[in-house]
Amino acid sequence: MSESRNQDSYAEMLAEVQAFHTKHDFKGTGGEDLTYRIALMAEELGEIAEAVTKGKPVEDLAEETADLFILLIGTAIAADFDLKEAFWEKMEKIQSRKSKMINGRIRVSEFRD
Ligand SMILES: [Mg+2]
Repeated sequence: MSESRNQDSYAEMLAEVQAFHTKHDFKGTGGEDLTYRIALMAEELGEIAEAVTKGKPVEDLAEETADLFILLIGTAIAADFDLKEAFWEKMEKIQSRKSKMINGRIRVSEFRD
């Protein structure tokens, strides 16, 4: 990774993940197949769960969360949608939702009751 990159920039993250896909020709080798990517994301989610349930150091949780984040950005590349735009649209939507305590935990959702 270049030292001159702005690490706070989503555009830079996207460019780095795109470079990773290009380096390994993910598009031409099944790496951008959405069904395969869902399996990879589920695998990383399992590693996140393991980091928590096995009481591993927070660095492990951070690494596995980064793995999932990289896959999410890559999935946006594979399916050709703008994840940054989707993020801000969704945040706007959920910021207006109501919350409820359910079994001692807060839940923010579109409650239809
Ligand atoms: Mg992992």
